[in-house]
Amino acid sequence: MIKVTVLGSTGSIGVNTLDVISQHPQRYQVFALTANTGLERMLEQCSQWQPRYAVMANEQAAEQLRQALKSSRGNEVEVLFGESGLEYVARHEDTDYVMAAIVGAAGLLPTLAAAKAGKRVLLANKESLVLSGKIFMDAVRDSKAELLPIDSEHNAIFQCMPVDFANGLSKTGVTRILLTASGGPFRTKSLSQLAEVSPDEACAHPNWDMGRKISVDSASMMNKGLELIEACWLFNTQPENVQVVIHPQSVIHSLVEYSDGSVLAQLGNPDMRTPIAYGLSWPERITSNVEALDLFDIARLDFEEPDLNRFPCLRLAAEAMQRGGTATAILNAANEIAVAEFLAGRIRFTDIPDIVENALSNSSISSANSLDSVITADSQARELAAFRIQEITA
Ligand code: NAD
Ligand code: MG
Repeated sequence: MIKVTVLGSTGSIGVNTLDVISQHPQRYQVFALTANTGLERMLEQCSQWQPRYAVMANEQAAEQLRQALKSSRGNEVEVLFGESGLEYVARHEDTDYVMAAIVGAAGLLPTLAAAKAGKRVLLANKESLVLSGKIFMDAVRDSKAELLPIDSEHNAIFQCMPVDFANGLSKTGVTRILLTASGGPFRTKSLSQLAEVSPDEACAHPNWDMGRKISVDSASMMNKGLELIEACWLFNTQPENVQVVIHPQSVIHSLVEYSDGSVLAQLGNPDMRTPIAYGLSWPERITSNVEALDLFDIARLDFEEPDLNRFPCLRLAAEAMQRGGTATAILNAANEIAVAEFLAGRIRFTDIPDIVENALSNSSISSANSLDSVITADSQARELAAFRIQEITA
């Protein structure tokens, strides 16, 4: 039996992970579940899965869960809280696989703890690599952890890569990564229309059903920028070797180009249970309940070049990766603050890149060799973003 910890079990990726696990009860057992403060869904999950541990973000939420569990079927579950609780279950010797599906920088430390403990890490939390790619990849290498990308594009690239890709892409005949992007709900909107869009419109993704933060990132194309950075770390390459390709149908999840002219792609219906099942079962395959792809129904696939004028977040992310060091941590932190303000209805959608660019140009970029330098850069960028938001909303 493989024991799985699901960090962020109440979110979109977490729920899809439990769905795949539920299809293979002989193979996987849930060891720990974690959530922010959402009590109701965690209570349901504890009753259904009877994990050994449940972790909530703070003491108050943990106490509420403990009380609620007393009168339900989950009274064997031990409830922990906070960063220490998350790290404890992520590195616990009885856990084999860790699904890293907390959203944002909050996911960094527990994901890193799982990597350092040599677990199989199913990485959905792309922010871990954006914040501290070098530290994270070093930890994976040193502890011989297995890193399985869950982000659909990176999972596709992983499936199309030669087995020895870690030796260096050019040595294995890979010339380019083609990273596909749906273009999001605003793909055809003009800049002036973009200034007027609402949070709910931004969260109405045409192909994927996701959490609100990543949905806004998809709409601004910051998600593709974060994914570009993620791809550079995962596959040990530079932004100039990664071409973003707009592909509105989201059927091709990404491609790898080889020196002999071959281009390998991974296709499938846009459903996160495919990459999750692959991460859980690799190098084998298991069923996921995802509907088979019907090419006759799809009929055609389209491709476009991204427009960096309307979607400056993609440019800002590529520039941050080129600058290196703490630049990508600054980009990520300022973006998290900006997205939260946009979702709260306090700023316009087009203010997001402004806030991120402002934080990048007013920060001093340092090397990102220690967690301290990354965390300091993250909090300074949050302050700069908050300051810029005050100016915008004054
Ligand atoms: P979500 O908002 O639906 O879920 C986030 C989860 O994290 C929830 O369980 C929430 O309780 C928990 N959480 C939030 N803040 C927390 C905090 N401060 N401390 C502890 N726990 C906290 O998000 P999601 O869409 O499932 O995305 C999760 C991660 O996966 C993100 O990094 C996202 O970029 C990545 N991802 C998601 C998708 C998708 O289809 N949803 C696809 C690719 C990558
Ligand atoms: Mg993705």
